[in-house]
Amino acid sequence: MKKVTSLKLNGKMWSVWVGELPRGTWGICYDTSHKIVLNVKLLKKKPQFIIDTAIHEALHAVFPFLTEFAVEQAGTEIARLLARLGVDLDVDALNRRVHEE
Ligand SMILES: [Zn+2]
Repeated sequence: MKKVTSLKLNGKMWSVWVGELPRGTWGICYDTSHKIVLNVKLLKKKPQFIIDTAIHEALHAVFPFLTEFAVEQAGTEIARLLARLGVDLDVDALNRRVHEE
Protein backbone atom coordinates (compact mmCIF):
# COMPACT_ATOMS: atom_id res chain seq x y z
CA MET A 1 0.00 0.00 0.00
CA LYS A 2 1.51 3.32 -1.09
CA LYS A 3 0.39 6.82 -0.17
CA VAL A 4 0.30 8.89 -3.36
CA THR A 5 -1.08 12.18 -2.12
CA SER A 6 -3.09 13.96 0.51
CA LEU A 7 -5.55 16.79 0.11
CA LYS A 8 -8.27 18.71 1.86
CA LEU A 9 -11.78 17.47 1.04
CA ASN A 10 -14.78 19.12 2.67
CA GLY A 11 -12.48 20.88 5.15
CA LYS A 12 -10.66 17.76 6.37
CA MET A 13 -7.29 16.33 5.36
CA TRP A 14 -7.58 13.06 3.44
CA SER A 15 -4.84 10.71 2.33
CA VAL A 16 -5.01 8.83 -0.97
CA TRP A 17 -3.40 5.41 -1.26
CA VAL A 18 -2.94 2.86 -4.02
CA GLY A 19 -2.84 -0.79 -3.07
CA GLU A 20 -4.31 -4.27 -3.29
CA LEU A 21 -8.09 -4.47 -2.89
CA PRO A 22 -10.48 -7.40 -3.30
CA ARG A 23 -11.30 -8.35 -6.88
CA GLY A 24 -13.96 -6.06 -8.36
CA THR A 25 -13.42 -3.35 -5.72
CA TRP A 26 -11.86 -0.40 -7.54
CA GLY A 27 -11.80 2.00 -4.63
CA ILE A 28 -12.74 2.39 -0.98
CA CYS A 29 -13.50 5.53 1.00
CA TYR A 30 -12.86 5.27 4.75
CA ASP A 31 -14.97 8.03 6.25
CA THR A 32 -13.62 7.72 9.82
CA SER A 33 -9.90 7.62 8.97
CA HIS A 34 -10.26 10.06 6.04
CA LYS A 35 -8.51 7.69 3.71
CA ILE A 36 -9.21 6.82 0.06
CA VAL A 37 -7.68 3.64 -1.34
CA LEU A 38 -7.56 3.00 -5.09
CA ASN A 39 -7.01 -0.52 -6.42
CA VAL A 40 -3.50 -0.93 -7.87
CA LYS A 41 -5.07 -2.86 -10.77
CA LEU A 42 -6.61 0.45 -11.91
CA LEU A 43 -3.15 1.36 -13.24
CA LYS A 44 -3.74 -1.12 -16.06
CA LYS A 45 -7.13 0.41 -16.94
CA LYS A 46 -7.94 3.35 -19.21
CA PRO A 47 -7.19 6.79 -17.70
CA GLN A 48 -10.88 7.72 -17.86
CA PHE A 49 -11.75 4.75 -15.64
CA ILE A 50 -9.09 5.76 -13.11
CA ILE A 51 -10.45 9.33 -13.11
CA ASP A 52 -14.01 7.97 -12.77
CA THR A 53 -12.98 5.94 -9.71
CA ALA A 54 -11.07 8.86 -8.14
CA ILE A 55 -14.07 11.18 -8.61
CA HIS A 56 -16.36 8.44 -7.23
CA GLU A 57 -14.34 8.05 -4.02
CA ALA A 58 -13.91 11.83 -3.64
CA LEU A 59 -17.70 12.23 -3.90
CA HIS A 60 -18.13 9.65 -1.11
CA ALA A 61 -15.63 11.66 0.95
CA VAL A 62 -17.30 15.03 0.37
CA PHE A 63 -20.93 13.86 0.45
CA PRO A 64 -21.04 10.78 2.73
CA PHE A 65 -24.86 10.95 2.75
CA LEU A 66 -25.19 10.38 -1.02
CA THR A 67 -26.41 6.99 -2.21
CA GLU A 68 -24.11 4.62 -4.09
CA PHE A 69 -26.28 5.16 -7.19
CA ALA A 70 -25.85 8.95 -7.09
CA VAL A 71 -22.10 8.71 -6.59
CA GLU A 72 -21.77 6.08 -9.33
CA GLN A 73 -23.73 8.14 -11.86
CA ALA A 74 -22.01 11.44 -11.05
CA GLY A 75 -18.50 9.96 -11.08
CA THR A 76 -18.95 8.35 -14.46
CA GLU A 77 -20.59 11.36 -16.07
CA ILE A 78 -18.09 13.90 -14.70
CA ALA A 79 -15.23 11.65 -15.89
CA ARG A 80 -16.83 11.55 -19.36
CA LEU A 81 -17.15 15.35 -19.43
CA LEU A 82 -13.51 15.80 -18.41
CA ALA A 83 -12.42 13.36 -21.15
CA ARG A 84 -14.42 15.38 -23.72
CA LEU A 85 -12.63 18.52 -22.53
CA GLY A 86 -9.31 16.81 -23.09
CA VAL A 87 -8.41 16.16 -19.45
CA ASP A 88 -6.11 13.17 -19.28
CA LEU A 89 -4.20 11.36 -16.56
CA ASP A 90 -0.47 10.63 -16.73
CA VAL A 91 -0.78 6.97 -15.75
CA ASP A 92 2.99 6.41 -16.15
CA ALA A 93 3.72 9.19 -13.63
CA LEU A 94 1.17 7.75 -11.19
CA ASN A 95 2.70 4.29 -11.69
CA ARG A 96 6.15 5.67 -10.82
CA ARG A 97 4.77 7.26 -7.62
CA VAL A 98 3.16 3.98 -6.61
CA HIS A 99 6.29 1.93 -7.24
CA GLU A 100 9.04 4.32 -6.11
CA GLU A 101 10.88 3.46 -2.87
ZN1 LIG B 1 -19.12 3.84 -4.09
